[in-house]
Amino acid sequence: MNSNAELAIVGAGPAGTLLALLAARRGIQVALFERRADPRSSAPAAGRSINLALAARGMRALDAAGMLPALRPLLVPMHGRQLHLADGGESFSAYGQMAGETNYAISRVDLARLLVEAAGQEPRIRLHFRRRCVGFAASGRVLLQDEDTGQHHELDTPRVIGADGAGSALRKAMAQAGEVAASNELLDHDYKELAIPAVNGASALAVREALHIWPRRGCMLIALPNADHSFTATLFLPRTGAPSFAALARPEDARGFFAREFPDALARMPDFDREIAAHPQGVLGTVRCAPWNLGERLLLIGDAAHAIVPFHGQGMNCALEDCVLLDALLADGRPGPFARFSAARRADTDAIAAMSLENYGEMRAAVLDPRFQRQRELELQLERRHPRRFVPRYAMVMFHPEIPYSMALQRGRVQQQILDELEQYGAPDSLLADRLVRERLDELP
Ligand code: FAD
Repeated sequence: MNSNAELAIVGAGPAGTLLALLAARRGIQVALFERRADPRSSAPAAGRSINLALAARGMRALDAAGMLPALRPLLVPMHGRQLHLADGGESFSAYGQMAGETNYAISRVDLARLLVEAAGQEPRIRLHFRRRCVGFAASGRVLLQDEDTGQHHELDTPRVIGADGAGSALRKAMAQAGEVAASNELLDHDYKELAIPAVNGASALAVREALHIWPRRGCMLIALPNADHSFTATLFLPRTGAPSFAALARPEDARGFFAREFPDALARMPDFDREIAAHPQGVLGTVRCAPWNLGERLLLIGDAAHAIVPFHGQGMNCALEDCVLLDALLADGRPGPFARFSAARRADTDAIAAMSLENYGEMRAAVLDPRFQRQRELELQLERRHPRRFVPRYAMVMFHPEIPYSMALQRGRVQQQILDELEQYGAPDSLLADRLVRERLDELP
């Protein structure tokens, strides 16, 4: 394919489109290839999660491309977690105590459409829909197939970015060619989405601006609000065993399980029987790949490079943050931006992969434990007394984009140790707490 593009991007998801916008605004000619139809003129494909939690890292990245004014009207704030307990009780726990510690729910489809609309208005971006990357041609160039005509095209741009998601065809082709070592470590829990529609235009759950969680130790149900006052619920459940998706294959078994475990949610799911049978059962995994680049010719970013499980709500946030870093490296004029991206970013993506796995245990089980609740309370006290030193790990990840993920992981471990030591002394002694915090935690950057 002959074009005057300097940069080809495969995949018009959040990462591919944001990078295209950032690069184009620096004067780079970009060609963006997407296997799906143009979201500006087609109905959305069902399957992937319907809404996502957007946090400070993603907001900062989208802001760098001037996208926030268009997005803001579509965001639903989530100020904390609304827990639905097994005994029918509910409790709310704020995400943080500082101003602005809020996450936002956004529709995946709306976000994709707005980003593609912005890319479509940018003269330096050429958009190509229904072009599927199928690997490498014999020439070694990236090969695309036109989904309508079946014709193949080779990419001749000097640089290619693979932003084609967790199932990346490019990553698989690189691995098949022996250029990278890649794996996708699947969780033994899958997910399925179910709708909680609005009732007479109002939210069916009493608290709208929250992430709802039904933690049941071995599994959980969550629900995120949508702009139209509906919620999208997601069931996370083991694939096999009891209970499991395999054991609930018959809709009547699934209904019985929901009636026992999540009766308040079931009562608000009028289309449950059809949805539980018809909606796809998605898998969740952690993608590991090394290296991410083939010299300075090709680089994987976002989920294609490092997909993670969704329990910290950071996969997209992290993918968007990748774009800001890569854009800065492409612009600074120094040699080797792809190699430098890989070197600078790996510790952070490894860290968020680990924290996302840990967070599943926290969301479905730890939130129910009195010790966890005591320690969260103590964390907030320590943060009030030492706001420059002790910031709860959740807040570092979600609300402090200036703190890299790897630093959040490392400081989080030190903080957890302090909390564990203070627990040993029963009623925490504030003098000891202050000493431990000052001794072990530097002031934040
Ligand atoms: P993708 O969004 O996967 O985009 C890849 C694009 O490439 C797609 O448009 C696809 O059609 C296209 N493509 C794929 N293959 C080809 C090909 N061969 N040729 C051409 N084009 C191709 N993240 C959060 O930050 N917050 C959340 O709350 C959150 N919740 C989640 C819930 C669930 C259940 C799941 C599964 C994920 C969740 N995530 C969340 C993660 C988030 O969805 C991803 O991290 C994010 O979409 C990654 O963006 P991306 O652009 O790298 O990849």
